[in-house]
Amino acid sequence: MTANGGRIIFQGADLFDGENALRSGVNVVVEGQRIDSVGEAPVEAGPDDRVVDLSGKTLMPGMFSCHFHTGFGTTATQGGAPVLGLEAPAAYFGILGARNLSTALQCGITGIIGSSNPYNLDVCLKEAMVLGQLEGPRLLACTQEFVTSGEQADGTNRSWFMDLNNHGLIRRVDGADGYRQATRQALGAGCDIVKISSAPGHGSSPIRDICYMTRDELDAVVEVARKQGKRVRSHCPSRTAILECARAGVDIIDHADRIDSEGIDAVLEADASITPSLLWSTRFLAFAESWDHSAGAFPIGDGFPENLPDTLERLRGVREDFEYTCKILPEVVKSGVRLLLGDDFGFPMMPHGDYVSEMEVYTELGIPAQTVLQWATKNGAEAMGRGDDLGTVDEGKLADLLVIDGDPIANLPILRDPAKMPAIMQEGRFVRDNLR
Ligand SMILES: [Zn+2]
Repeated sequence: MTANGGRIIFQGADLFDGENALRSGVNVVVEGQRIDSVGEAPVEAGPDDRVVDLSGKTLMPGMFSCHFHTGFGTTATQGGAPVLGLEAPAAYFGILGARNLSTALQCGITGIIGSSNPYNLDVCLKEAMVLGQLEGPRLLACTQEFVTSGEQADGTNRSWFMDLNNHGLIRRVDGADGYRQATRQALGAGCDIVKISSAPGHGSSPIRDICYMTRDELDAVVEVARKQGKRVRSHCPSRTAILECARAGVDIIDHADRIDSEGIDAVLEADASITPSLLWSTRFLAFAESWDHSAGAFPIGDGFPENLPDTLERLRGVREDFEYTCKILPEVVKSGVRLLLGDDFGFPMMPHGDYVSEMEVYTELGIPAQTVLQWATKNGAEAMGRGDDLGTVDEGKLADLLVIDGDPIANLPILRDPAKMPAIMQEGRFVRDNLR
């Protein structure tokens, strides 16, 4: 909306609507918070309207990052393992999270689905945005990582002497009743999506084909979340866990490294989504495989001391999993599974803000940029449960829009350059406006 309450008329844009190929000469009118019209017909401007000439520029929906750890980033002990979410005081994590959200918004990400975080960080940040203390993307606030005792992500394993239990990034939960209680508490505290950890692997250690959680534990989380209209996501690299989680009704299958045709069918049947998040694996392997082991032990593992042959064996397993995923991903895409963007940004190898690099991992596997941009827009909105209101440029939808100086489908890297993204609009209001 203009200062006088008039409309914004984007004229002569190349439109990426979130789904289809670029269409030239499109006029998009924004009135208030919403898109009033999209079409080729000339639009007559009133005295209060602002006409923006977008010839040579692309208009597209705001993007979604659907695996986002608000609390990941630089801390004094960064780089050590395991990540406990206790490496800094809560206040520092709050600052880090606010900065990460702001970074994402400035990259054109207008929607985020949280992954696990400590200190109920997502809820606090969401409240700060509602209260006008922080500008950032709309956010589905996530819980801590719910883990069964002793599983890979249980930060208490190596740090048992700290008696961490439910502090920091993880919350240890066992049994169906335990999962019901933890889910109810977290939803009561304001979370929108529950993160569970159901299988080992993806990243620093190879996948074992197991599901940590029992079926009644999975069912308990999903049932409680569903009743309250909330969502569930699962760290889910193994073949078995993909099947179990999809069949239990988990909404987002994170990583899905060892998916096969049966897993694809189960995910399709459940209408679940997948975040392949392969940038982490790419960057981890590049770091691990260039490590000079004669200079010292490789620093990323599960925290337990490890001899060199075991480290090398572990890294070989991670490489094998990664190559399997790269090979099957085009098949997953072809099947019609809803894929999403979002990765473990915040690690030293992949700072927040480097979001385009994840897209490039997929285009390098031969997946068209247009498809990846649909993951970033339409698919993200659907996974958030806001497909009716966001994710595409259509009449009646909320005006979360980006203006790109060029064609992001032909030239994906331009999305990296703030100078090539002259405008970011959220619900009809410019967050960035360099169009004048
Ligand atoms: Zn993650």
